[in-house]
Amino acid sequence: MRRGDSVRAMSSAEPPPSAADCGLQILWDDRLISYDFGPGHPMNPVRVELTMALARELGVPELPGVRVETFEAAGDDLLELVHEPAYIAGVKRAGATGLPELRFGLGSPDNPVFPGMHDASALVAGASVAAAEAVWTGAAGHAANISGGLHHALSGAASGFCVYNDPAIAIAWLLEQGAERVAYVDVDVHHGDGVQAAFYDDPRVLTISLHETPRTLFPGTGFPSESGGRGAEGTAVNVALPPGTGDAAWLRAFDAVVPPLLRAFRPQVLVTQHGADGHALDPLAHLILSVDGQRTAYAMLHRLAHETAGGRWVVTGGGGYELVQVVPRAWTHLLAEAAGRPIDPETATPEGWREFVRNRTGEIAPRRMTDGTSVVEVRTWGSGYDPANPVDQAVLATRRVVFPEHGLDPMTDL
Ligand SMILES: [Zn+2]
Ligand SMILES: [Zn+2]
Repeated sequence: MRRGDSVRAMSSAEPPPSAADCGLQILWDDRLISYDFGPGHPMNPVRVELTMALARELGVPELPGVRVETFEAAGDDLLELVHEPAYIAGVKRAGATGLPELRFGLGSPDNPVFPGMHDASALVAGASVAAAEAVWTGAAGHAANISGGLHHALSGAASGFCVYNDPAIAIAWLLEQGAERVAYVDVDVHHGDGVQAAFYDDPRVLTISLHETPRTLFPGTGFPSESGGRGAEGTAVNVALPPGTGDAAWLRAFDAVVPPLLRAFRPQVLVTQHGADGHALDPLAHLILSVDGQRTAYAMLHRLAHETAGGRWVVTGGGGYELVQVVPRAWTHLLAEAAGRPIDPETATPEGWREFVRNRTGEIAPRRMTDGTSVVEVRTWGSGYDPANPVDQAVLATRRVVFPEHGLDPMTDL
């Protein structure tokens, strides 16, 4: 069966999941907003607070099959699945004394020390582990931790606003339960370096990261040549996109890389990281996505979770520094998609939410759930390759490195 030329055509062959198939557990605790590096830091937790407020105003938690659950903070045993004990001790010390621990990356401009740093970070990690547990045990088909997705944290150091690497810890927990194949797809504008590093030599974990090229953006890694260690060749996948990449090209790159690899790998669980910082308004990066383009990718990942991973889908947030105009709408769309009841992009944002935004931030809230580009068609790889196009060049570079390791032809559909 040949895939069609658009998501719509693809969806006619593969029916979109119905709400009855889904079942979504949202892991939430108001204390998650204590993950706060302080005034002036780009990663202000108001973004998750506004997201939950918008999702509630639009009735997402009341949708059929949706439950909001609390959870425990991750204990040291869980954190140590990924992190060195000396680093965890350093985080605890820094959070208690307020003093920097620079050898652990704590106290730098990116990762300032804040009171209770360990507890707040362990809470985020606990939410992602609880999401993985819900999906692994079958308590829910899908589970989401929008405060998670702290993908830059390394085994022995904080990095890029990330203290504990909650997606890596959740994946490590799944492996400990006996999972043999876990796929991780990261659509944050930055390379998912910490998750890649945690499983670089592990053939059980496929990591795929689509991001702005490391030539122009932190963390300076994520080239196509980073493709997995010995015995795990082809299980790290990096699509390094040029600055200025917009919805159509971004979705084309996603479609050319992610579905074929997930179909070949057949994960038991799909873990996804949804940094919203690829948006045109994001202050820290240089892609020009819209909320509508991001929403389209959520729908594609949802469909792929059902098609390739038995519907077992763990969803995390990630970066996203346009705190009012972008993140709340993007992740409310994400939660509604995971609930199997996507929100029509033309929907108005509720007046109650706009007022909350005004009072909480002094900003004028967006009036609609769309950026006005709500029909985002995907031009598939099969519909033509343009050797002069820098996005097509980036896609082909990745396919050439990793596709043969999965028995796939990098040129297929050219
Ligand atoms: Zn579903
Ligand atoms: Zn990011």
